[in-house]
Amino acid sequence: MRTILLVAATLIPAVFGDGHGGQCDTSTEQCDTGLCCSQQGYCDNTEDHCGTGCQPAYGACDELTPASSSSPSALASSSSATSVITSSASSSQVSTTSSGTCTQPGGFALSFDDGPSVLTQGLLNYLKSQNVKVTFFINGLNWKNADTRNPLPGLYKLADVVRSAFNDGHQICSHTWSHTDLITVSQYNVTYELTRLNNAFRQILPGGVVPTCFRPPYGDTDNSSLAVLQGLGYGTDSGGAIVAWDLDPVDWNPAIHGSTPQAQIDDMVKEFQDDIGDTQPSESTFLTLNHDVWNTTADFRTPAEGSNYPNVVPLAQRVIELLKPAGWNFVTLDECMGKPPGSFYRPSNPNDYVCSDPDTLASDPNACFD
Ligand SMILES: [Zn+2]
Repeated sequence: MRTILLVAATLIPAVFGDGHGGQCDTSTEQCDTGLCCSQQGYCDNTEDHCGTGCQPAYGACDELTPASSSSPSALASSSSATSVITSSASSSQVSTTSSGTCTQPGGFALSFDDGPSVLTQGLLNYLKSQNVKVTFFINGLNWKNADTRNPLPGLYKLADVVRSAFNDGHQICSHTWSHTDLITVSQYNVTYELTRLNNAFRQILPGGVVPTCFRPPYGDTDNSSLAVLQGLGYGTDSGGAIVAWDLDPVDWNPAIHGSTPQAQIDDMVKEFQDDIGDTQPSESTFLTLNHDVWNTTADFRTPAEGSNYPNVVPLAQRVIELLKPAGWNFVTLDECMGKPPGSFYRPSNPNDYVCSDPDTLASDPNACFD
């Protein structure tokens, strides 16, 4: 039995503060929301800022570098032990990447990872016009996978978009804070990646809920990271789901599909057709891997709204137009797994934010996973 002992902060940690002129670390001031504080004390969202040497006490980071004792007092919190959660599975019992998949014939679960992005609201508008429900695997700040032609505001600045997706009936799931490959980092980092995102979800989603469905970046988990995931409620024994995918049109790498956006999208549609083949809706179900950070997948904006591809129908629309007449029913993850609506949310609890507080981790690196 793996036990995770958590202490609850009586103050909600303020991870972000007001930005100032692109510098950090020289005072108690923070980078703007979504930006990282580099080792040299400058705010931006490049790999140099968010990777090695990034200072989590002053902004976002990729993988958490243990914070120094000079964290700003604004982040300080008084703590008291209030909660113990346990995982029913020891790490040695866990070996599979996913703990769930679609089971309901006829269900076609489109899913979009790595957002939200500036494209997501346009996608939501289109989906609503078609009465199609999908699943979003959300990141907090995913500078690694953004289409560089688009701005990267981060989750807090796109909170309204994520809330709209929830209210429209789409499923919201976790995809880690910064798209970290969980098999490359410690349990300490895995905990941080999950709870920092939950800290945002509980402030953004109606009712303060957090998702219990999760897709690991790159599909990668190992026994170590699965133990943390299960301890935080993503395991099937807790009513959650850790899922991969079974249809990947490789929309995350448009360049390999052709030299123009039209050729790229045409080839991605062909990937869908090839993967589905002669499979009839009565026989099977699909869970896709798509990404609403790429113009070729999800740019529904008009030229006036900043579209880069004003004359091209994006992949999401092409796929829906292809599959709807064929009898496929577009469903969210819970429905395709045969679960009642709302199954993959739970109330938030102190575990969802204390572990994302750099001061707590600085004072006790094992506070969240001992
Ligand atoms: Zn991803």
